[in-house]
Amino acid sequence: MAQEVLKKLQQQPGRDSVRVGITGPPGVGKSTFIESFGCYLCREGRRVAVLAIDPSSSLSRGSILGDKTRMERLSQEPNCYIRPSPSGGTLGGVARKSRETIALCEAFGFDTILVETVGVGQSETTVRSMVDFFLVLLIAGAGDELQGIKKGIIELADTILITKADGSNIPRTEAARVEFARVLHYLTSTTPGWRPQVLTCSSVENKGIREAWEVVEQFRDIMLQSGEFERRRRRQTLDWMEDMLTQQLWHNFTHNPGTLAQWPRIEHEVLEGKLSATTAVKQLFNAYTHHDQ
Ligand code: GDP
Repeated sequence: MAQEVLKKLQQQPGRDSVRVGITGPPGVGKSTFIESFGCYLCREGRRVAVLAIDPSSSLSRGSILGDKTRMERLSQEPNCYIRPSPSGGTLGGVARKSRETIALCEAFGFDTILVETVGVGQSETTVRSMVDFFLVLLIAGAGDELQGIKKGIIELADTILITKADGSNIPRTEAARVEFARVLHYLTSTTPGWRPQVLTCSSVENKGIREAWEVVEQFRDIMLQSGEFERRRRRQTLDWMEDMLTQQLWHNFTHNPGTLAQWPRIEHEVLEGKLSATTAVKQLFNAYTHHDQ
């Protein structure tokens, strides 16, 4: 039944919506920012859905992103929906459900989808593959601004937002802004026709929040005009298809009676050092194709 519903939703692809991915290391201020940003958007008359993809939930029961009760003000906004981070399951499984949730939220009339993830592991590339605009939150550090920050994550950014630009931290955030703008200058943008920007904000003082939204709107206008907006979404649908296909194949393979019959013996022999990984794969594949015919 769920598949039937999703199929119907494909007919109304949510062209008026914008999907924003938000990432950053733990403690950078993601949830505080989403609270301010989300409340601002609701006041502007937008309907906001917040989803979280928590890579820790696939490793343990614990959660890096924590409970959504953090966003207390935002959760009281009638025009906002906050989905608690799904726990358990693989990153791939959570990603698939999140894509479906985006489709459902858009069909339900949410025009602004915020997808939060923590900047560790694989989850940021997963989120990148399901949003239009990718916002990377960073904190101003002492000394080398690139220290400890993966270059890869910066390359994915459509905009970098330096958080906690308030009080005595202002000079440091300003210095970081200049430094990151310089770094971005040397990197190739992941979005053709768009030069990533560097902004600062203070979520607690509500400064730079409007500017952060303006850059999303500016990006959307340019991308809609060039056709890149639609092209990216189509490519993402293709990626989604390939993801689902990979999962389906893996499921079939691991549930196939032929492979299941051989699996314990082969695994044992690999552990014992009697069988090479390459030969093991060949044997498993033979067992699979044999039984599949
Ligand atoms: P997350 O782990 O990325 O979700 O980070 P949080 O939103 O939980 O914030 C981590 C800490 O930074 C908390 O103690 C916040 O109060 C603080 N924080 C977040 N945003 C700001 C800000 O704009 N200014 C200041 N001074 N502190 C902030």
